[in-house]
Amino acid sequence: MPRNPKQSTSKASGKIYGKVKGPYNQKSVRTRIEALFLDNIGKIVTREMIIKASTDPVTGRQPENWHQRLSELRTDTGYTILSWRDDPNLAVEEYLMPSAEKRLSAGKRVKPTPACWEKVLVNAKHACEWDEDGQLCGMKEDDIDPVGGGRVRLTPDHKSPHSVNPNSDPSDPNQWRALCGRHQVMKKNYWDNSTGKLNIAGILQAASEKEKRAALNLLLKYFGYTLEGGKVQVSKPSEKP
Ligand SMILES: [Zn+2]
Repeated sequence: MPRNPKQSTSKASGKIYGKVKGPYNQKSVRTRIEALFLDNIGKIVTREMIIKASTDPVTGRQPENWHQRLSELRTDTGYTILSWRDDPNLAVEEYLMPSAEKRLSAGKRVKPTPACWEKVLVNAKHACEWDEDGQLCGMKEDDIDPVGGGRVRLTPDHKSPHSVNPNSDPSDPNQWRALCGRHQVMKKNYWDNSTGKLNIAGILQAASEKEKRAALNLLLKYFGYTLEGGKVQVSKPSEKP
């Protein structure tokens, strides 16, 4: 099956694709992805390239949670990384860093103090506090996430969105909760644009393979297609000769 061109210019669109230069021996997934983007300023970086560059150089293990690390490069490190949502020339799972410039405001995001975070973790019994209709997630640090894959890492989440309460107190444990990576992404699905609207693409990205397949089948059915032997066919029951 033809894949995205990995480099040079695709004839049809004039889009310029980057290259996985490497070797990317940086210690974390996030810094390996950062190095890949810095090697390809102004060029398109695809999902495949990100997975290749962020694969652990020692164990050869592919990271399942690269979406989260990519999102941290935007929110924590302050890079501008465009996706199809920002630039109509980009397809889904294509990304572009227009310059190496970082937004200064990014690092100023409020975080709980270490002492406060420790209290939050103790109160949470070191488990994710995401509440789904009264059912707590309960994933513990270093557990294997059965849905998203990878090891669970708990990070602080401010309970009320910053748009509602910008004066979050870094030393008040009651204002914070512990969330696993998957639920940090899940929360963004609701609060990213402060409209309360669902971020459908984000939800699908965070979904498991099984859930993605179910969504694909639902959409194919909705738009009148069927999957036959791995190929998408137009289903026209009424027009068949
Ligand atoms: Zn969770």
